[in-house]
Amino acid sequence: MNNPTCTSDPLNVCPLRRTKIIATIGPASENPRVMREMILSGMDIARLNFSHGSWEWHCETAQHIRTIAGELNREIGIMVDIPGPKLRVLAKSPPREVITGDTILIAAEDHESSGAIKVGPPDCVPYVYPGDMVLVGDGAVTLQVLKPGPLMLTTVTSGGTIKEGMGVVFPGRRPDVPYAGTRFQEYLKQGAALRPDYIALSFVGSAQDILDARSLLMKEGLETLPLIAKIECRRAVDALSSIAEHADGIMVARGDLGVELPIEQVPHIQKHIINICARQGIPVITATEMLESMVHRGRPTRAEVTDVANAIVDGTDATMLSAETSVGKHPGQAVIMMARIAVETEGHLPYLHMLNERSRWHEQNVEGVISYRACFIAEELESPAIVAFTRSGLTAERVSRCRPRAPILALTPDSEIARRLLLRWGVQPVISDPIESADELFTKAVKIAQYTGIAQSKDNLVIIAGNFSGKEGRTNMIKIEEIP
Ligand code: PEP
Repeated sequence: MNNPTCTSDPLNVCPLRRTKIIATIGPASENPRVMREMILSGMDIARLNFSHGSWEWHCETAQHIRTIAGELNREIGIMVDIPGPKLRVLAKSPPREVITGDTILIAAEDHESSGAIKVGPPDCVPYVYPGDMVLVGDGAVTLQVLKPGPLMLTTVTSGGTIKEGMGVVFPGRRPDVPYAGTRFQEYLKQGAALRPDYIALSFVGSAQDILDARSLLMKEGLETLPLIAKIECRRAVDALSSIAEHADGIMVARGDLGVELPIEQVPHIQKHIINICARQGIPVITATEMLESMVHRGRPTRAEVTDVANAIVDGTDATMLSAETSVGKHPGQAVIMMARIAVETEGHLPYLHMLNERSRWHEQNVEGVISYRACFIAEELESPAIVAFTRSGLTAERVSRCRPRAPILALTPDSEIARRLLLRWGVQPVISDPIESADELFTKAVKIAQYTGIAQSKDNLVIIAGNFSGKEGRTNMIKIEEIP
């Protein structure tokens, strides 16, 4: 059977996996051969973390991803991650072994001193007090402030190696700098120039931070670019509801969250964030150390596998790999493992219970009710798929929020919308030629379902759509088509 006039080949959809995989690109995965392996293994979105690597490196990497995606006839999303006001150990400080009880000096990079560990950027050093904790390298080394000041005296409470690039966190203390300051603006401009599909904002502290980022993007003509708020400090947790109202998605950034807050609070905060996102209908990403031991080993620990599975049970849209794929020894294997855990876990989710639970959360209007009922119909008719025709992406997003068992085939004529939908749980975007009428949609939906092998003869396909020529984003039509 021929490809039914779709620009992207529908055979590339993976209806077997609903949870999306984001993988961070770094030295371990910059080679196009490795990137290709990661795409074929299930990477949906590549993250470019602007905290590391030069601007030229990110441009080249984005170009490689697009080229490989094109060669494979796939849509792969690109997420640019903008650094926040985070302190790091600078190259000026050679690696240093420290042991409990040592005293150590810390100074901003512009301070005239020798023997101190240099940190920067200087304006990110917060005001601290004697007795404050200092966590270096996500807590690999811990210090306590003895004497604050420009040349800060600390004592080591847990030893290890301090080296260049390690994060330096003073839990609960924030630098007195505006969120969208000059440095942020520069990063955002560089990130926007890559024309990514999403921008992740580190260390967001309030809804205003998102509004500020959005108005900066407006100057680049990119105000509709989805903004993902990374929740990684106390202020963000406290302002979660208003942040979720203004962001297009949320990332549970457990790396910094686990050093900014007591680490034992991370599990319940993760569940709370995922729950708020489900209610608001925005996508949520669970990130960091999901398969951490795969940085060095070919297999994850049982605890890591269980952590990924639990995030999926909690309702995450996507899981993210960081060090595993950016600096780890087995980037391709880590993606394969993540995909395997997702498929297995999704086979055991309580779909009917999830649908019932979400009955209180969908929009109480024509669009919300049709999308929700489409999931129920698909469940009762054991439909192999829900086909959603969507120009703005909204119709497919509404269905995804309800977490149906059936995969959601999102037919869209717009490749940008297709890549944005890659973040949504259960949605498999297929770029189709423009569809002008309901009859054309029904015929095409059936052909695609047959072509991909998703549907068999006598299966009932659930099809939903909005107006074909009118306003985008309406969902007001539902049709059941029996596969001949
Ligand atoms: C995190 O802190 O968990 C995170 C995802 O951010 P980054 O990788 O930028 O540290």
